[in-house]
Amino acid sequence: MTEVYKFGGASVKDASGVINLASIVAKRKNSLLVVISAMGKTTNALEALTRAYFSGGDTESLLQQVKDYHYQLMLDLFKTEDHPVFDEVNNLFVEVEWILEDEPFDFDYTYDQIVSIGELLSTKIVSHYLNFTGIQNLWADARNYILTDNTYREAGVLWDKSTHQIESHLLPQLQKQIVITQGFIGNTSENFTTTLGREGSDYSAAIFAFCLKAGALTIWKDVPGVLNADPKWFDKTELLKQLSYYDAIELAYYGATIIHPKTIKPLQNAGIPLRVKSFLDPQSEGTIISNEDTSVKVPSFIFKVNQVLLSVMPKDFSFIIEENLSQIFEALHQHRIKVNTMLNSALSFSISFDYDADKLDQLLAALSETYKVKYNTGMELVTIRYYNQDTLDRVIENKKVLLEVKSRNTCQMVMKNKTA
Ligand code: ASP
Ligand code: MG
Repeated sequence: MTEVYKFGGASVKDASGVINLASIVAKRKNSLLVVISAMGKTTNALEALTRAYFSGGDTESLLQQVKDYHYQLMLDLFKTEDHPVFDEVNNLFVEVEWILEDEPFDFDYTYDQIVSIGELLSTKIVSHYLNFTGIQNLWADARNYILTDNTYREAGVLWDKSTHQIESHLLPQLQKQIVITQGFIGNTSENFTTTLGREGSDYSAAIFAFCLKAGALTIWKDVPGVLNADPKWFDKTELLKQLSYYDAIELAYYGATIIHPKTIKPLQNAGIPLRVKSFLDPQSEGTIISNEDTSVKVPSFIFKVNQVLLSVMPKDFSFIIEENLSQIFEALHQHRIKVNTMLNSALSFSISFDYDADKLDQLLAALSETYKVKYNTGMELVTIRYYNQDTLDRVIENKKVLLEVKSRNTCQMVMKNKTA
């Protein structure tokens, strides 16, 4: 049965990362699709390049940095500039230069044409390197398989068309050799490149796994698996060895950054287990996410900083009713604000969301005609799945809690540091 591996930018950020990837891939000889993101911070760099192009900035030096980074990495891998990979990589950069020579139009469209180069570069380099070391493989252009609508930067997948392409053209290839392809990118029916949203490579891997009816998807990461908290905030974290799809989706929804939130649905729908494993320690088990429900409910913690806590009250002292709520949600939707917590009472409706100066201004303008709006910035939001009194006490130490929402399994608190 076919398996899908996904390697993120951190796993291929330098030559030793690519060499390590090769050693992992080499262990599996039968049907394997390898989905790879752009190397290191390349997507950020290409994003900066696109912005500079639209604002009249110094695109030349920004593009040069991306080139230098990839050329150095190739030199470290291939030791000589004579290898044909250099020409292929060069051609990709020429395509970007052509775009940059024209007058800028339509940011989102252009973003996708430029930023998608990151994944094309990384997969060209990795594919050549694998062949170079005797791991025979085929480089495949994901744009022949992941077909999308034309919502640039957040493209919607056309499932029937993608399934058809993958079944009839990719599956036969996988029976012959390992195939290397790109995460994050797709193609419209007019043949324009799209992207699936930042960090979308996990999602790509899940789409491929679904359409291939794969036996499993493994996401290789720089952590041992899914942890019950981000080590950035917690010094004692625990590895969650087994998770249900349901819990994984809940954790991703509340902001755990381990897996892209869209990834789980196709896997759950097709019953494909998802493994999250460390590329630094490939022998260890990592986390397995499947239909099996674990009986041990380990409390998990998700922290989000830089939150806005905003309360809306009708000016005329009327109750907060469905009509008001639908107006408020309409405004949130229009300004693309994703609500992280909400609570309503008779006279007010409160929400928390990620701070963004522009979006906040627009929302205040939209709501303040009809409502009295109060807000605080610089808040923290903690979500605890499978909370108990002990875990609650731990996180609110030295904090002032401004809003608390509890369900049977999940507790969310918006809080700030206690001032003396
Ligand atoms: N390279 C893309 C990004 O950094 C996609 C991904 O890494 O998943 O957003
Ligand atoms: Mg990335």
